[in-house]
Amino acid sequence: MPLRILKALVRAAWALEYGLRRATRRLTRRPAYALAGACGGCARCCEQPTIQSGAMTWRVPLLRRAFLAWQRRVNGFTLVEADEETRAFAFRCAHFDWKTRRCDSYASRPFMCRDYPRALLDQPWPDLFPECGFRPLAPNAEAMRAALGRTTLSPEKLAELERKLFLR
Ligand code: SF4
Repeated sequence: MPLRILKALVRAAWALEYGLRRATRRLTRRPAYALAGACGGCARCCEQPTIQSGAMTWRVPLLRRAFLAWQRRVNGFTLVEADEETRAFAFRCAHFDWKTRRCDSYASRPFMCRDYPRALLDQPWPDLFPECGFRPLAPNAEAMRAALGRTTLSPEKLAELERKLFLR
């Protein structure tokens, strides 16, 4: 099977699984952050793609090797570092051109590349790259801004709180 078709199939399966996971979370927990802003094309998120693995993939050597081999062969990701604490693998991507800051495989990029930074929106404090044109927006941002507006906080303090609580 050509690599392109294989990648498309995996991407579709991942998108389906991710969509189902998010829908389930919405039913059982408070809503995650919304996504505001837009991609400015800085390519910061392409510099070092990082994937958080499941416990089995991290611990079982055969699964780990298969996972890393898949990333290398299919996505062009070469392992750079592995973080024990978060079970995250960080890679260097063969498709990213550091000079032009463009992807030579943009049309068939993996789902994780298409999804940045949406995957972070379920975290308590989404930590996006400072250069990123997107920003998380708290689900109750408007009500919280109104409540803060009724306080006697200084404009500087208000602005700081709005930034830290993702209210803008
Ligand atoms: S870091 Fe954000 S703005 Fe930059 S390319 Fe990625 S998604 Fe776009």
